Amino acid sequence: MNSLSLEMADCKMQIMLVLCSFILLATLPPIYGWGTDGHSIVCKIAQSRLSDAAVDAVKELLPKWAEDDLGSVCSWADQVKFRYRWSSPLHYINTPEICTYQYKRDCKDEDGIAGRCVAGAINNYTSQLLTSNSASNKAQNNLTEALLFLSHFMGDIHQPLHVGFADDKGGNTIDVHWYKRKAVLHHVWDTNIIETAEERFYDLNVDSMVDAIQQNITSEWADEVKRWETCSLNKTACPDIYASEGIKAACDWAYKGVQQESVLEDDYFLSRLPIVNRRLAQGGVRLAATLNRIFG
Ligand SMILES: [Zn+2]
Repeated sequence: MNSLSLEMADCKMQIMLVLCSFILLATLPPIYGWGTDGHSIVCKIAQSRLSDAAVDAVKELLPKWAEDDLGSVCSWADQVKFRYRWSSPLHYINTPEICTYQYKRDCKDEDGIAGRCVAGAINNYTSQLLTSNSASNKAQNNLTEALLFLSHFMGDIHQPLHVGFADDKGGNTIDVHWYKRKAVLHHVWDTNIIETAEERFYDLNVDSMVDAIQQNITSEWADEVKRWETCSLNKTACPDIYASEGIKAACDWAYKGVQQESVLEDDYFLSRLPIVNRRLAQGGVRLAATLNRIFG
């Protein structure tokens, strides 16, 4: 080939590469649940509160690519949602259009199979991890997945619209405007409130937001933290409490005053951000408390 045809071949190759990356991006699944930052905040708070025994157990179970950082694996469950289709209904709870939650009534998937919701999943993966002391090497792989699922679902259950009305799919069918951008209400709670807070108050730095929440845990909320951590009847995990709080927060704050095409701006952002901060804190504190109870 002469140099001109070489250049043309090179050019064609570049066009192909650009096209391929567009196609790849277009086919990547969307991410649901707290966005990546929300999950990472919950897990970073949790990791800082682990007992020595839990630190060792978590290190043992984390995949190599996590480099001992629990915060880096907490969106994994969203990334595998399409490979593990069975896991899709485990990220949320659908309730009837009343502001209460009951495990027996609400914790099921669309086919009515009991226990297939985020509360059932937290119970299930907690039970699996409780077997970790007696597990053979072969079972370790499943326990790694159990840890990643539990860490993710403990975040999801604290996102108020993950315990939302079946009719609007937890706010997914409510179209709103987040300032000037189109969004659905569910996404506002997964991502937009956190992102706007990072932009406005934390110089786009997620770690500064984690620090601020952690400061609140040791000051403003210090008296409540013991209660957040405690499960009744010596249970290891108590997702029903978190789900009941979730649907209440959804009614009192997320859905409140919002209709199709509502424009959500400073009034909504500034009054809801404290709720988001508190739910992220509770998720982190409770994930740590649960892992500490599991691993002793
Ligand atoms: Zn999720």
